[in-house]
Amino acid sequence: MKINAPAKLNLFLEVLSKRKDGYHNIETVMVPVSLFDEITVDESDKVSVECDNKLLSGKNNLAFKAVLQLKSIFPGKIKGASVYIKKKIPVAAGLGGGSSDCAAVLKAVNNIYNLALSSLELKEIGVKLGADVPYFIDTQASLCHGIGDEIKPLKIASKLSFVLINPQVELPTHSVYSSLKTNLTQKPKSINMLLHGLYKGDMADIVNGMFNRLQDVCEKKVPIVRELMAVLCEKGALKAMVSGSGPTVFGVCGTPDDAERIKKEICGNLNFECSVFNVESI
Ligand code: ATP
Repeated sequence: MKINAPAKLNLFLEVLSKRKDGYHNIETVMVPVSLFDEITVDESDKVSVECDNKLLSGKNNLAFKAVLQLKSIFPGKIKGASVYIKKKIPVAAGLGGGSSDCAAVLKAVNNIYNLALSSLELKEIGVKLGADVPYFIDTQASLCHGIGDEIKPLKIASKLSFVLINPQVELPTHSVYSSLKTNLTQKPKSINMLLHGLYKGDMADIVNGMFNRLQDVCEKKVPIVRELMAVLCEKGALKAMVSGSGPTVFGVCGTPDDAERIKKEICGNLNFECSVFNVESI
């Protein structure tokens, strides 16, 4: 069974509070985009995960943990599964690649072994493996609360085009959150303008409503991020910011043609190694 596991972008991310379990309560808008890891899952007597990025092969891969989790719930039905991942989504990049792979494998094993788990049940299993895993079970533009696991689908009036730049530096999510100074007396940024913009297809409201509370911390840890955002805006993106905890930056573009042109202009003109992608919301 072959599956495409998409990346996500956070168009809005506010940190509301720190929880006793160490996680943070957040308010975020996530949209899936057309950048995919390619995953093959087959029935097997044992559990194995191979990845073209050899550092990600084996037991530490979230996909491996996904199979083990289902095997422990259905010991009589599942012996194992062999998973192959062709990694296209940059790793530890704020794009949710590991969580997306994990959700894709949960869904594939559910199908292959006829487990008949509902989407809600898959989300309950997924949240034990990662805060973003439930989001990738249905994978649609959503407003999320809690640790990202309380998901409300959003209607978006029109497709959005983006250019992504990944500076090929890995930035672990926990290091960004642990450096964040949460000031609980500060008023949280309002999400309303973005929600209105998405619903109406109003680009000005979308652009003015986009926000990421983790951006400043990310810029301090990976200073080049600031430069990459400036390049995106200089070339014509309407606004640029960091996705999730970074360090991938994305620019929202007026049209798919703008995105195509901006990507081309950037590709030949950067002084350092970066991966550049031109994607659409899906
Ligand atoms: P998020 O935005 O959800 O915080 P991220 O995009 O920043 O996630 P991931 O690419 O999901 O980060 O990777 C985070 C860590 O998870 C990596 O350092 C990697 O070692 C581990 N990992 C486990 N399985 C995978 C996988 N299938 N793909 C990528 N990383 C994985």
